[in-house]
Amino acid sequence: MSENIFESLHYNAIAPWLKNRFSQRVVKLSLDGGFTCPNRDGRCGTGGCSFCPEDGSGAFAGSVPDQMELLRRKWPDAGLYIAYFQNHTNTYAPVPRLRELWDEALAAPGVVGLAAATRPDCLGEDVLDLISEYSKKTFLWIELGLQTSSDATARAFNRGYDSEVFEAAMDELSRRGIRTVVHLILGLPGEDRAAMLESARFAASKRPFGIKLHMLHLMKNTRMGREYEASPWPLMTQKEYVDTVVDILERLPQDITIHRLTGDAPQSELIAPQWSRNKHAVLNAIQREFKARGSFQGMKGGAFAPPRTDQ
Ligand code: SF4
Repeated sequence: MSENIFESLHYNAIAPWLKNRFSQRVVKLSLDGGFTCPNRDGRCGTGGCSFCPEDGSGAFAGSVPDQMELLRRKWPDAGLYIAYFQNHTNTYAPVPRLRELWDEALAAPGVVGLAAATRPDCLGEDVLDLISEYSKKTFLWIELGLQTSSDATARAFNRGYDSEVFEAAMDELSRRGIRTVVHLILGLPGEDRAAMLESARFAASKRPFGIKLHMLHLMKNTRMGREYEASPWPLMTQKEYVDTVVDILERLPQDITIHRLTGDAPQSELIAPQWSRNKHAVLNAIQREFKARGSFQGMKGGAFAPPRTDQ
């Protein structure tokens, strides 16, 4: 069994990982590059994922200068930034436009890296070539919104691609040596603890650089939110969520960085679960659960996947 190498946090959080890598605090600029989503405009679907608000899950995203000003106030000691294109599908544009946006972001003072959240079906050969090019000249990762490994669950919320598309994209990004971060949502309708653990196992088996976990948020102005308001169903309690997060982290290899363990829904838009409004309470409860179990990320021997050797 590995020792707890993460000190007080019990897991391999991305913030300390970046601080260690760059020798000072690095924070993410949440950017809105003006993209849309092929699951909304008809290229692969309409209506979008049923939990996703029309603004594309990036309510807090903005421009480089605005975000930098905001972060300077929040973290006065942060001198370095990752330019994170967050809103909608951030590779869904012609390559010259992506290049323009990425160059502009990387030219801003203190920006040491680039991240982009996208769909696995928006990584054509030309986009992959561009990502490969930028990954050689800057620190970069690509985020893929898997949410679940169950195609039945994914079809129910209208993800618009099957998990084999995700697998192929992860394999290609990995073949090109590009870091990846996988998004998973816990508490999707019809999924029990075993299904959530299976999604995490599946994601870990593709050897990502990082994972993001958060609870399902039911938001106003989304199809799932309207369905819930019309006929509410039982949601995960905070205790169930915390227990499942810790169950997952205990099984993840220690080298997988953890980018998120709570959601970030705008308070005015959130219908449920109400407990998710207090992120600190959720994070503190995760810490307490780790302490109570005397455990940490990877304690169960990387049950989901063997440790990687290339990062
Ligand atoms: S979650 Fe992502 S893929 Fe789904 S509709 Fe929203 S932006 Fe598009």
